[in-house]
Amino acid sequence: MLYFVATPIGNLADITFRAVATLKKCDYILCEDTRYSKRLLTAYEIDKPLKSYHKFNEQKRVDEIIEDLKAGKEIALISDAGTPGICDPGTRLALACIEHGLPFTSIPGPNAALTALVLSGLTTHRFQFLGFLPKKPKEIKSLFEELLHYPGTTIVYESPHRLVKTLLLLKTLDPGRKIAIARELTKLHEECLRGTVEQLLPQLEKAAQKGEFVLLIEGKKEFEQQEWPEIPEHVEELQREGLSKAEAIKKAAELRGVPKREIYNAIHKLSK
Ligand code: SAM
Repeated sequence: MLYFVATPIGNLADITFRAVATLKKCDYILCEDTRYSKRLLTAYEIDKPLKSYHKFNEQKRVDEIIEDLKAGKEIALISDAGTPGICDPGTRLALACIEHGLPFTSIPGPNAALTALVLSGLTTHRFQFLGFLPKKPKEIKSLFEELLHYPGTTIVYESPHRLVKTLLLLKTLDPGRKIAIARELTKLHEECLRGTVEQLLPQLEKAAQKGEFVLLIEGKKEFEQQEWPEIPEHVEELQREGLSKAEAIKKAAELRGVPKREIYNAIHKLSK
């Protein structure tokens, strides 16, 4: 059995009982950097062999890991921080397990994107996660042009030395767009800056940025600021505009950025 085990993103105490128990029972633990992960194992008295599994040897390693899993070995995969597979190695191994019909599971825990989303104050009921932004300004710009229309919060990981440049680019497209910048989450100097791009840029430009960052961008304004009528009224209104009930439900869900189920439930409750 293979276990994807989430580990802390800064604060060593952020690890679940199940994660520790899983790491303790495995035959060996795959990690990006054996020296770095040793610190975690020492803190939790986990005495298991560490084997390196990182983006440069992922392909090579997969075959032997699959053989070990077939032989009945219990293997855990961790990354330097957070949830393996999320902007970290892991996906290739998950695919190989699926291909070979081998079981694997994910032991949930810390993740920088979701931790930042909760702190951001931006909408949490619809969001997209894009991982790291591309490096070329042209590519970032076209991505921004697209995501500024997304009707929910966009979450990206950004490196400290590119953050200001990225925000200057965003300013050219929408200076008034609300953003949040979550820095050093769960660590001593954790902070979350909230404001519009043009409000936050001057304070970020003042000093070189250090640490780890998550950038969150408010969804399309019309969506965020729209005040909708109660759900049943909204659906009736759309039906009066000529849509069938099913179409009106679908449209209301799209407009409000919620799952269709939520619309059905609200209508159903009323007709009980
Ligand atoms: N697997 C990790 C997860 O589940 O969040 C992400 C790993 S990715 C290689 C590293 C990036 O995640 C960093 O560059 C930063 O953008 C973000 N990150 C990780 N830890 C963070 C923290 N404590 N505070 C803010 N951002 C963090």
